[in-house]
Order: sequence, then C-alpha cells, then structure tokens
Amino acid sequence: MATRINIKMYKVKELGDCFLLTVHHNNIVKYVLIDCGSFRNGKGSQDRMRQIVSDIKDKQLKGAKLDVVVATHQHNDHVSGFVHAEDLFTAIGIEQVWLSWLDNPKNKQAVNIGANHLELRKSLKQASEKLDELSKNKSGHRSHSAMARKAFNTKNLLDDLLGFYGAAPALPAKGIEILKGIGEKKVDYLSPGEIKAIPGIDSGDLRIYVLGPPKNEALLYRKDPKKGESYDHKLSAMNNMIQHFMAAMENRNNKEDKEEQQFPFNKDYKRFTDKTKSGSAPLNQVIDLYERKENGWRTIDEDWMEQASRLALYMDTFTNNSSLVLAFEIVRTGKVLLFAADAQTGNWISWNDLEFKGEETTVENLLSRTVLYKVGHHGSHNSTLKSALEKMTSDDLVAMIPVDKKDPNITKVNGWQMPATNLYNRLKEKTNYRILRMDDGFADECNPKTSKKAKASWAKVSQPKITPLFVEYTIS
Ligand SMILES: [Zn+2]
Repeated sequence: MATRINIKMYKVKELGDCFLLTVHHNNIVKYVLIDCGSFRNGKGSQDRMRQIVSDIKDKQLKGAKLDVVVATHQHNDHVSGFVHAEDLFTAIGIEQVWLSWLDNPKNKQAVNIGANHLELRKSLKQASEKLDELSKNKSGHRSHSAMARKAFNTKNLLDDLLGFYGAAPALPAKGIEILKGIGEKKVDYLSPGEIKAIPGIDSGDLRIYVLGPPKNEALLYRKDPKKGESYDHKLSAMNNMIQHFMAAMENRNNKEDKEEQQFPFNKDYKRFTDKTKSGSAPLNQVIDLYERKENGWRTIDEDWMEQASRLALYMDTFTNNSSLVLAFEIVRTGKVLLFAADAQTGNWISWNDLEFKGEETTVENLLSRTVLYKVGHHGSHNSTLKSALEKMTSDDLVAMIPVDKKDPNITKVNGWQMPATNLYNRLKEKTNYRILRMDDGFADECNPKTSKKAKASWAKVSQPKITPLFVEYTIS
C-alpha cells in the first residue's frame, strides 16, 4: 500500500498556523503537528486554540499520541496554543519534539543570537512605553499635536510587531519550554541539510529534508562576506542602533536645552546674521519660519521615531527567518510537501547552497516535485521567493494559505497585505486555481462549485473537505 498524507489546516480565526498531518503508511498511522498558535491571547483566542486541540485529541488522535510536534519559530501565532492548551497536550502525549538549531541551548551561536534578540526586544518594549508617554498630554490624555500623533502611530506599529511575541513576557519561549517538557524523547534540534524520518516510518519511504533556518557558518565561508551577512552581525548592529534611538528619545524629553533642540546641527555650525550677534532674534525668525503651517511638510523633528518601527520590523524579519522549514518527500511517488513556516527572503535564499548528506537531491529538484505548498508567512509579499515559486512546476500543485481576512492586522487602515496581491495571482496560475485558505476554505475563483476552471483542476487531484474547524486535503 502506498503512503498517504492527510493535511488539516485548522481555522484559528485570526493570523496563525496549526497543521495536523496524518500519515498513513501500509498499516501504520502517524501524526505530525506543525505549529499551533494564533496571534492574540485574549479569551476568544485561547478558547479557539483549546477547541482545536480538543478536536485533535478526541476526534483525530482518539487516544493515540502525537508522533512528532514541530514548532517552527518563536512567534505567538505559531506556538501560543502550546501554552493555552498545555494540559490537553500533556494528556495527548508527544513522542518527539522537533525544533530548529536556533532553539538549542547547547549551541553557543544560537545562545548568542537569542541573547541579542532578547535585548533588542526589551529595548523596543521600552521604546513603546516612551512613545506612549510622548503621545499624551500632562493629564494623561491623548494629545493631538503633530508630535503626539506621530508618537502614537509609531507606538502602534511597534506594538503590532511586538504582538508576535505575545502579551506576557516571551510567551512563545514559554510555549517552546512546555513542548520540551512534554516530549518523551530527547528534543531534536534540526539543522539545514539534515534528513529526518518520522519514528516508525523508514526514511526510504518518507523522507523529511530540513531546509532552514540557515546557519551562519555556511554564509561566513563565502568569498563575499557582505553578501552573506550573518544574523549576529545584523542583530548586534540593530542593538547598537536601538541604543542611539533610546538616547535620542531621552534627548527629546530633555526640556533643559529647548533652544538647542531647534537646531539640527551642533553649536559649532551655528551662524548668526550680521544684524544681531545675540542670536535670539534670528532664532525666533527661524523658528517662525519652521513652524509655519505651509512648511509642515518639510519639518524633520519627529522623523527619528520612524527608526523605531524600522527596528521592530527588522526584529520581526529575523524571527521569521529563524523558521524551521521542512520538505516531506513521499519516496515512492516523488511527491513533496513544502512547509515554509514564516521564512522570509534570507531563509529561502540560503536553500540554494544546500546539500543533503549522501543525497543527490537538490532543493531545486524538491521544488519541482512539490505538490503541496504551505505558503510562507500567511502570504506576505517577501515570504515566497519568486524564483522558488517559479520552480514549483508540478501539475498537481496545491497551495494552502493560513490567513484570515478578518484579522485586525489586515482589516485596519494600511493593514498588512496578506495574501499579497501579486503573489496571490501568481499562486492561482501556478496551482491552476487550487488555493485553499484558512478563512474561506476555497480562495476566490478556486471553488469547484462556482468556477469551471477550478472544477476541472480539482478533478485531477483529491477533493478538499471544508468543515467549521479545518480545511482538509489529502495527498495519495
Ligand atoms: Zn506567522
């Protein structure tokens, strides 16, 4: 009998990932869970996560344990469920936990990166609190001055990105610790280039290739080190920047030298007109000119705040790039299932140089045989490398996007573009209208009941099933 893999994309009802893979091989059934989390931690989010894990426990596993649980990276929307449903996971039992090498406490490099990252996150939290102060007047209400508005907007941007790390301090880290505690066997920390097997199924039948997250060494040994800039360097540089940023914020609050603040240059560069040497009259003229309404567009005094959101975005990119990326290969048919977690550009690019021990297979070859693509980072624009998607040329390709259009991060003004328009359109072409979404089930134009194109296309593969709790698809 052949190998069959059933994939359930659970509907977390906001941004988040929770995928249950049921692997049938001969008479064996194995369960693999890839991530379990949603963006928020409120009562509704917690209840939903528990409802999902209860379904996994009572309706799917029915007393069996999870053979492998994969936590791809430390963002709330991928691991919060392990915290909110800890008791349920304990009751289920987990044989083996797979994490990335970046979570390995014995890996010095990983520990360093982790420490830098924590430092940066703490600083950004402080920055957010400072910005909150700046956005309020003396009586603690929101002020509507230009500066206060900018502070408020920047604070919101920061909080959005910090939201990935949960409300409680480092909730994702807690999720990882919980998992480590439940796993029966020693945790496996995976590195790119490794090939894994699910306990009980031979790797000659089902092979799991580890694609990311990249290791610095591979990049450090390149001829051009700039091209392969490491996380460490970038993160340290970011920490440097945040220190300057915090200093700038301190200065902003320092009212003592108000006059000095009006000048963008050091005292040494100050020049007075001939009419007066005292400086007070021309300074006032300059300030008048600067503060005139029609000149508002070219004021620069609060632009430094944008730096904070840039830093937060950087930190967010780093965590996404720390995603554990796995490609499951059903050896007999050559079919590949690609789970890209939230990998962004840097992670994808690193696969190009990847070699698998004792294997001739390249990532390019795996991509050409990919029949299921779990779309990276909820369909954001920089989380599916263009050249890689172009290499997915299988006629059977199906895409699954864990996205929810009602998520406040998407619905708000200037909300996140998920899925990004161009990517979404290209996915429709590449999959021949076989895109499944977490919120709607079928993506628009991909429903066989309403679209002829989709009907013909789905007829070539197995029919998806959509229930209130999950979107299901089987590869046989
Ligand atoms: Zn995510």
